[in-house]
Amino acid sequence: MSISFCLALCFTALLETLDVLHDADNSSDHEPIVLQLDLQVELVKFADRMHTPRSSWEKARDRDLAHCRLSLSHYLADIPIPHEALLCKNVTCCSVEHAQAIDAYANNISAACTAAAEHAIPQTCSRQNSRCIPGWSEQVQPLRDKSLFGTGSGWIVDDPEQELCLDV
Ligand SMILES: [Zn+2]
Repeated sequence: MSISFCLALCFTALLETLDVLHDADNSSDHEPIVLQLDLQVELVKFADRMHTPRSSWEKARDRDLAHCRLSLSHYLADIPIPHEALLCKNVTCCSVEHAQAIDAYANNISAACTAAAEHAIPQTCSRQNSRCIPGWSEQVQPLRDKSLFGTGSGWIVDDPEQELCLDV
């Protein structure tokens, strides 16, 4: 079954035309396929970039870490301990209940760590909101301070020996 036949089967309802271009200048052993589809597209819209806040450990101060430790100890205290599964001495244990209890215990500990961090540690903010560009202050700001703004083509460094023009 050829590829074009497979495509024709998949897009039968939408397919208006299907051609394979046999271009003499094409040195590839693959041939481009041109499809004309009857698609009803009313609106194509791109979503805004999504930001998922995360704990920013580098922003955390000593009081945040202490708060996190305290929160974590409270969260951990509420987790039921699966004593029977943890104390099982059968090295070939196949108990579904034991496996589920240990999985749930591990998930609860993980969730407690995440919750404590979200509760006590500063969160990252979106770059769009912070308007912060990594490296700007260290790398670009000194050059910007030394520069004169050019005539729409960029920044011109005010140093006759090292004249430099950067496109903006
Ligand atoms: Zn067991």
